[in-house]
Amino acid sequence: MTGSDAMLLGLVALGGALTVALIALAAMLLRLREAEQRVRDKEAAHLGVLDRLQENEYRLRTIIESEPECVKLQAADGTVLEINPAGLRLLDAARPEDIVGKKIYDVVAQEFRHIYRENMRRVFEGEAAVYEFKSITLKGRTAWMETHAVPLRDARGAVYALLGITRDITEHKWAEEQGRRHQTELARVARLSTMGEMATGLAHELNQPLSAIANFARGCIRRLRSGDMAPADMIEPLEEVCEQAERAGEIMRHVRDFVRKSEPRMTAVDINQVVRSVVKFTELEARQHETIVTLQLAPQQPRVWADSIMVEQVICNLVRNAMEAMAETRSMRREVMIRTVPHGEDAIEIEVVDTGPGIDGAVIDQVFDQFFTTKPEGVGMGLSISRSIVESHGGSIRAESRAGGATFRFTLQAIPLRLSNDERRYSIHS
Ligand code: ADP
Repeated sequence: MTGSDAMLLGLVALGGALTVALIALAAMLLRLREAEQRVRDKEAAHLGVLDRLQENEYRLRTIIESEPECVKLQAADGTVLEINPAGLRLLDAARPEDIVGKKIYDVVAQEFRHIYRENMRRVFEGEAAVYEFKSITLKGRTAWMETHAVPLRDARGAVYALLGITRDITEHKWAEEQGRRHQTELARVARLSTMGEMATGLAHELNQPLSAIANFARGCIRRLRSGDMAPADMIEPLEEVCEQAERAGEIMRHVRDFVRKSEPRMTAVDINQVVRSVVKFTELEARQHETIVTLQLAPQQPRVWADSIMVEQVICNLVRNAMEAMAETRSMRREVMIRTVPHGEDAIEIEVVDTGPGIDGAVIDQVFDQFFTTKPEGVGMGLSISRSIVESHGGSIRAESRAGGATFRFTLQAIPLRLSNDERRYSIHS
């Protein structure tokens, strides 16, 4: 092989290597382009997702902004993260900055902050909550609010905010309060008329301790005058005088309570005690109606959580109705029996059973209606007031008619015996 042959061969080999290198380069370029295209495709896809997300957010925002109820987002420490225009109006805020970034507690009335905080804690633990509270708006206006709150979670499921929808329930609360006041006032007026009818009975009841006091005092004066009384002998009659005066005072206190114009006062009540006090109040009326009142009181039963005067009013109404029903028909045997019976684990039933004519089946469903009466002088409010008193105590009342008379029963919730002494003490005094 000549030198030129060798050179030629060398050139061919070099050309081959170059061609291979070129082909490899071209293939690489192609892959690069493909990769570039894939990246571009992905970017485009991402942009599409981003656009859709933005569209969705815009749509949601528009809905929330135009929502007539207050919608707000809050952080765990109560910082308001976002609020819609309705929320700003609700809180009398002019601009979002007046509320956003501030603590929600600034607009929650002091006495409700604890409840509010407690509900927020529940939501951040993952529960939904509905709560009512009083709010003091930025202009110092007091308003009742109701919030429905749910937790908002991130992609990992952790709660990062509270979403709350709040509405103003001031008017509703006001109407509720008015209704309650009206009811209390009605019950009081009914008590006043009961009192009027029982006035003779009361006078008689009061007369006993007063006469006893006069007698003891006169006895002392007589013996002192005649000189047969040592100072030590005076102690016993004077103690009697004190006791009788206290008894008279108690009767007067009871009368005052009965006609008082105050809100219901809930305490732990011994129902048997209330029944006995009704019997005392209606004693003279029973005598006038020639009616025997008998008692069957369950021993050692739990107390009930109630306004004792209101419960007394219910029993009074039932007893007086029974006496009137028996008087109307000139029943031969006039007897009213008041029973207290445990009703399941957590309630007590009070029964007033009479031996009167019973209630006509056609009207038995109406006896609790306002103004329903079959008496010429009746007003028809007694049973209606009794029912609302019982229901406001969480109990129920019903009427039954038997061959030999009518029975009215109502239940009251008992305070569970398992309550600790501390809770009991709290319940009794709160
Ligand atoms: P009022 O006593 O003014 O009629 P109430 O609301 O107390 O009003 O009673 C409504 C009606 O229920 C009575 O008029 C009477 O018809 C009936 N009623 C109530 N208690 C008895 C009873 N023990 N026996 C028969 N009927 C009764």
